[in-house]
Amino acid sequence: ERQQVVCSGCGVKIQTEHKDQLGYTPPSALKREVIICQRCFRLKHYNEVQDVSLTDDDFLKILNELGNKEALIVKIVDIFDFDGSWLPGLHRFIGKNPVLLIGNKVDLLPKSVKRPKVIQWMKKAAKEYGLKPTDVHLMSAQSGEAIMEAANLIENLRNGKDVYVVGCTNVGKSTFINRLLKEFGAEDDMLITTSNIPGTTLDMIDVPLDDGSVLYDTPGIINHHQMAHLLDKNELKMITPKKEIKPKVFQLNQEQTLFFGGLSRLDFISGDPQSFVVYLSNELTIHRTKTEKADTLYEQHLGEMLSPPNKENQESFPKLIEKDWKIQPGKTDLVFSGLGWVTISGDGGVIRTYAPKGVHVSVRPSIF
Ligand code: GDP
Repeated sequence: ERQQVVCSGCGVKIQTEHKDQLGYTPPSALKREVIICQRCFRLKHYNEVQDVSLTDDDFLKILNELGNKEALIVKIVDIFDFDGSWLPGLHRFIGKNPVLLIGNKVDLLPKSVKRPKVIQWMKKAAKEYGLKPTDVHLMSAQSGEAIMEAANLIENLRNGKDVYVVGCTNVGKSTFINRLLKEFGAEDDMLITTSNIPGTTLDMIDVPLDDGSVLYDTPGIINHHQMAHLLDKNELKMITPKKEIKPKVFQLNQEQTLFFGGLSRLDFISGDPQSFVVYLSNELTIHRTKTEKADTLYEQHLGEMLSPPNKENQESFPKLIEKDWKIQPGKTDLVFSGLGWVTISGDGGVIRTYAPKGVHVSVRPSIF
């Protein structure tokens, strides 16, 4: 696999195709010794903020803060939205500090998905993003599965030092912290305070540990790549799996298409008939159609038969961006960040995926 070029400013993956998307760098700039994305370039040389919200800026300050400490960093990601909930720049700022990478929401995985395989995939994906975690763990902050193990890992890895828990919004960070508080300590006189992150208006929650160290819950960062930001509360509820996912099996011939609500689409362009197993929220409707009819169907039924997005939001919903994938024989997952994934098993072929602008699609060897 090709090594991904990342911006040495913010750590985002460099791309040269979409000017208005994250990581854009003019092709000519790839020849430079130090490659930074256009956004960082402008920031650095012109002090000009380009489509950057305050949160991104504050996030950089938090990252800087982490680099100045000796501490254990606990980074939480949502395993259903791995790319969307990844904090790209982290590894550049943490110095020599150990990182415990925790994948949350494991309760949503069908029992048939082998946990060690998921951990293997997380390690590999982290490495591709440039992070080498000291350890990787899976848990469910909600159900409590493997929470004690997470707490023990933190205790062992922190080695008497402070702990910083980081993660973008919606990964389940608060649920996790609250559960820790419930399971341990939380004696009546335990003082939970907040402290200000220098240079920001953001507060951290400080949880005292019994040896005088502190566990800091840093603010959740809004990651603009999350599908979540394209949807309203009700729509989000629909696509967020609430319990163990029930896989749906489709036997597809080439030139057939699956719609996942109106949010994403998969075309089987060419290849022998094979099985497509869809792992999405049980409430999201899947429509199957002939590829030749798919464009018209989308135009005519987005917001109704193909929803979410619902009728009111359908106008402002971003255009779906297509991408072609050559799938090798065997078992492969096509991952739609924030939605779920489709396992293709058979002789492979060419697949075209469609996802809203900004939302990641990726492939991995199947974790099934
Ligand atoms: P934060 O923004 O990172 O603090 O995330 P929250 O703790 O507020 O959780 C975000 C959403 O994810 C909420 O709807 C939680 O109920 C849900 N959630 C958190 N942890 C889990 C988990 O382990 N499994 C599942 N299925 N949902 C979770």
